[in-house]
Parts: sequence; structure tokens; C-alpha cells
Amino acid sequence: MRAITVTPGVAHSARLEEIPEPPLSDGAILVRTRALGVCGTDREILSGAYGSAPPGQRYLVLGHESFGVVEAAPPRCGLTPGDLVVGIVRRPDPEPCSACAVGEWDMCRNGRYSERGIKERHGYGAERFRIEPEFAVKLDRGLGLLGVLLEPASILAKAWDHTERIGRRGRGWAPKTLLVTGAGPIGLLAALMGMQRGLEVHVLDRNKGGLKEKLVRDLGGTYHTDAARLHRLAPDLIFECTGAPGLIRDCLGATAAGGIICLVGVSAPGKVFGLDIGRLNATMVLDNDAVFGTVNANRGHYEMAADALARADQSWLSRLITRRVSLEHWSEALQDRPDDIKVVIIFGE
Ligand SMILES: [Zn+2]
Repeated sequence: MRAITVTPGVAHSARLEEIPEPPLSDGAILVRTRALGVCGTDREILSGAYGSAPPGQRYLVLGHESFGVVEAAPPRCGLTPGDLVVGIVRRPDPEPCSACAVGEWDMCRNGRYSERGIKERHGYGAERFRIEPEFAVKLDRGLGLLGVLLEPASILAKAWDHTERIGRRGRGWAPKTLLVTGAGPIGLLAALMGMQRGLEVHVLDRNKGGLKEKLVRDLGGTYHTDAARLHRLAPDLIFECTGAPGLIRDCLGATAAGGIICLVGVSAPGKVFGLDIGRLNATMVLDNDAVFGTVNANRGHYEMAADALARADQSWLSRLITRRVSLEHWSEALQDRPDDIKVVIIFGE
């Protein structure tokens, strides 16, 4: 079968090549891939900066945003041929830490987890893949190709789950306003879930007058391009989805009292600012503010995400997929173009 592979640590090593059928050891369920989403993590792996092959193997099958149809499944596993499924990315570490032991591998404490298409396990960027029943999530049939958004949506489902857990530290917690920074797929899915919670949603992004702005407005949100004017907003919640150091600095201390800042974007080290820690600390202490980071998602979050996608306006969701590229032209999908929101590689119907 054909698969998109890379040699981890080697830049520009991605290729479409013939590899053996997926081994039974990957799981009892055989899935035929229909689509694969591409994200920043994939591009980091392509640049050679990130990712590792399964032990003893020369290559890594790329891809962690999966979407496929079940071809074969053992009886009574909860899935039958024809079901639409998405594969969970992370697997718990071999000697589970206290988090992995209770199914919260997204909270792994020793870093020895593995991840399909990223760390020590082949990804979903092959014509067929195998998966364990407990790591396959069944999708609403009506969702169709939009199922490829489930993995990125699971990241936001977790971010919302944890934000609400933190919020419940106060019995009177009733947030009204949300600011999302960054109108990429992650930011727009954060905004969608904010709207689904009845919040007044503001989204900040650099791009003016394009599809991102239109998507935010069509969702019912307010679009901003000037970060300097946001200080007057004082939102109850901020979801920081850019990882841009200057913007993160501007977010700190910028919420209303009892505010929560959820850091979702990953950034590189090396950007150093002068920061009035005394003022920031006084604000955060006296206002009961919270700042936390979040990554990855466990099975419960995938299920919450599937529910959120099923309840969303399907035509709005479909506009998040700005390019569909056939497997034959896979390398075009990996190029980062300015108008892209989510790019998807189509493997077949
Ligand atoms: Zn663990």
C-alpha cells in the first residue's frame, strides 16, 4: 500500500512510497483511510526538527489527523465495517504513570507516551491502518469528510473541559466573554465551542478582510486585528492559540477578575522581554486569575469533540477545509500557503 513517510530528523525526507500492509499488532480493526489533515506539527516533522520512528525502523508514517472507514473489525468491539472512524493519537507509556493509568494519557507525567505519526508509532497517512478498538472513535455518519476535523477539535474539547473545571473553583462562576487569539483551525474551533456555550466571542488575528474574518463574523463573533485595543475588552476567558511570545505577554493580566487564560499554542524559546512581574503577580493574586497550558486529548475529549462537531453548522465547518489535495499531489498539501486554514489530503472515497 502507499504511505507518506519521513525519515525523522532529516529535513525534506518526505516521500510517497510502497510499504507493507499494517501489522495486526497495530490493532484488531482495519481502517481504509479517506482523508488526512495536515497541521503545524507535521510541518515541524518534515523540517527534521521533531518526530521519531518506531524503535528499529528507518521511517515514520506521517499523519495524526485521521479519518477513515472500517473495513474489518472483530465481533462485539463496538464497530462494524462501514463505520466512520478517527484514530486517537497518543498511547500511554509502557509503565503507566498515575495519569496514564486512569486513561488520561493526555496528562502523562513522564513523557514516555508514544503518538501515532509523531513519536515512535506509525501515523495514519497510509492507504490502510490498523487500530485498537479502544483508540478508535466512531463518528456521526452525517459528518462525512468533516470528521477529519475531529483530532484538532479534541484539543479544544480538552481545553474547554479544563477551563470549566478551573472555573468551578468559584460557585458563582459565569463567564460571558471569550477572546481567542489566532484564527487558524485551532482558534476557529475554540471560537465555535465558545459560541456553543453562549459566550460573546472575540477573535484576534493579523489577517484583515479575508476568509478568517468572514468565518468569525458568520459564527456571530467579533473580529479584531489590533491587539493594542484589546485591553479595554477585559474578557473573562482568553484562549491563546498562536504561541506568539509578544501576544502571550499581552494576554497575561488582561482578563477580568477571576479570569482564566488557556495557553494552547506552542512556541519556540529565545524571545526575551522585560516584564513587570510584580505588577503581573499583584494583578493575578488580587484578581484570582489563572493561567494554564494544555496539550493533546484523551478519549473523553474526542467524544466531546464529536458531539460539538455534530451540533455545529456543517456548511460553516466545511469552509474550514480550504484545500483538498489528492494523494497523488500529497506534497502540495504540505506547503504552507497564506490563505490556508485546514488542508486535507484525500486518499479515496
Ligand atoms: Zn504516562
